[in-house]
Amino acid sequence: MNWRRGVVLKSPEEIEIMRQAGRINALALQAVRQAIRPGVTTLELDAIAEQVIRDHGGVPAFKGYPGPYPYPATLTISINEALVHGIPDGRELRPGDIVSVDCGTVYQGFVGDSAFTVGVGEISPEAQRLIEVTEKALYIGIEQMVAGKRLGDVSAAIQRYVEKHGYHVPREYTGHGVGRQMHEAPQVPNYGRAGTGMVIQPGLTVALEPMVLVGTHRTRVLSDQWTVVSYDGSLTAHFEHTVAVTADGPLILTKADEK
Ligand code: MG
Ligand code: MG
Repeated sequence: MNWRRGVVLKSPEEIEIMRQAGRINALALQAVRQAIRPGVTTLELDAIAEQVIRDHGGVPAFKGYPGPYPYPATLTISINEALVHGIPDGRELRPGDIVSVDCGTVYQGFVGDSAFTVGVGEISPEAQRLIEVTEKALYIGIEQMVAGKRLGDVSAAIQRYVEKHGYHVPREYTGHGVGRQMHEAPQVPNYGRAGTGMVIQPGLTVALEPMVLVGTHRTRVLSDQWTVVSYDGSLTAHFEHTVAVTADGPLILTKADEK
């Protein structure tokens, strides 16, 4: 990822296009969420997302994304100890799994990027708690996305909340600016110090994405060169929204409803 490019603030008109991209992305994720059940394969879920995106005039943002080799799918689907970047395949979901689904959509040249984690059938109380803490950490971060605050305030709020619950945030994978590129400046880690970093301004658009691990903050990459798992095999979860800073406060762009 190249963070050297400067931060590109967006006009209200550009933010409106990003909201449309984000809405299509949300509809794709909604369809995937409804299809998640024991026995469905991750490749079947991938096809559902791609169909929804294309039906609405969008293009999957992940497909072909540069990496060790071009990313081959519309979604990343990361199960249990897999944190991010799991590649859809013929694996069937099983009761008790927790599944993190991440999706990106390009629409009229702008990207929406969002992710959620959900249980398959009945899951353990520990898995349920992990999911709830991770989702809440996202909203705690979003609350800090206010003009005049600093990016370190966002990072610190997420880290504090996650660690208060005895969980961990990875160091190698972070939130990021988003716009015409899926990954733009600024980088937004899930750890940091309040009062440091860039001053948040209207027009800033960021994908905030708390990633949370039960055991330790350490991760490793599987031999497919994409899938990131917890180093100790412990459970993980991931939630993400694309958020714009406006004069009226933070605006979540990756929602399925019209406004
Ligand atoms: Mg994402
Ligand atoms: Mg992202």
